[in-house]
Amino acid sequence: MSNDTDDTASEDASVLVVGGGPAGLSAALFAAKNGLETTVFDGDDTWMHKAHLFNYLGIGSVGGSEFMATARQQVDDFGADRRQGEEVTSVRETADGFAVETDEGEHEYEGDYLVLATGANRDLAEELGCAFTDEEVVDVGVDMETTVEDAYATGAMVRPEEWQAAIAVGDGAAAALNILSKEQGEHYHDFDVPADAERLFGEELAE
Ligand SMILES: Cc1cc2nc3c(=O)[nH]c(=O)nc-3n(C[C@H](O)[C@H](O)[C@H](O)COP(=O)(O)OP(=O)(O)OC[C@H]3O[C@@H](n4cnc5c(N)ncnc54)[C@H](O)[C@@H]3O)c2cc1C
Repeated sequence: MSNDTDDTASEDASVLVVGGGPAGLSAALFAAKNGLETTVFDGDDTWMHKAHLFNYLGIGSVGGSEFMATARQQVDDFGADRRQGEEVTSVRETADGFAVETDEGEHEYEGDYLVLATGANRDLAEELGCAFTDEEVVDVGVDMETTVEDAYATGAMVRPEEWQAAIAVGDGAAAALNILSKEQGEHYHDFDVPADAERLFGEELAE
């Protein structure tokens, strides 16, 4: 898989992800898997705890909390620092990136990139100075970057309605791939092939 090979985007760049619902964990998964130092802060108020998914392509039926447990394990396995239960209380730009403070209050965390994934709560994006649309959601393009360079917004916070887990996961992936492309200096693909699965799991389990 990509994070085990020499084609990782950068060992040095770091990403702060605020919010550990489907959008934030997807961003964290792609970032950590591909070699970026990744920290995720999450208050565990995700709507997924109220959901049961029958509409997530490729998954027949799964409880929302069960989906989250698998997603968290996946992100942990790829080496992200998931700070469950730690709420971000403020965000700001620094000379070379971003800094966040949390309710644990001991120190600031700094990162080169910031991914906001705070669900329908858009307060941190407002605090950072991100532009909003006429529909009062955070203004982003298809790569999920906000009007603040290197700051991304993903998931429910960028949509007035039409909220779905699959869309949030796609938003998070788009943000992380854009960060990886910036780091690599060319379009980045996180493509694995059957040989990668064979190498990791052996021929019997690769399917
Ligand atoms: C009753 C119900 C049923 C649903 N059923 C389905 C369904 O069947 N299929 C489907 O596809 N979708 C369903 N959804 C929608 C789906 O749950 C959302 O689209 C999805 O959860 C949005 O993901 P998100 O990551 O954008 O936000 P969320 O899942 O809301 O996650 C945001 C996370 O950010 C954290 N957070 C916020 N602010 C901070 C902060 N300052 N610091 C740290 N953490 C913070 C929160 O604690 C939360 O964990 C349902 C929603 C509801 C309410």
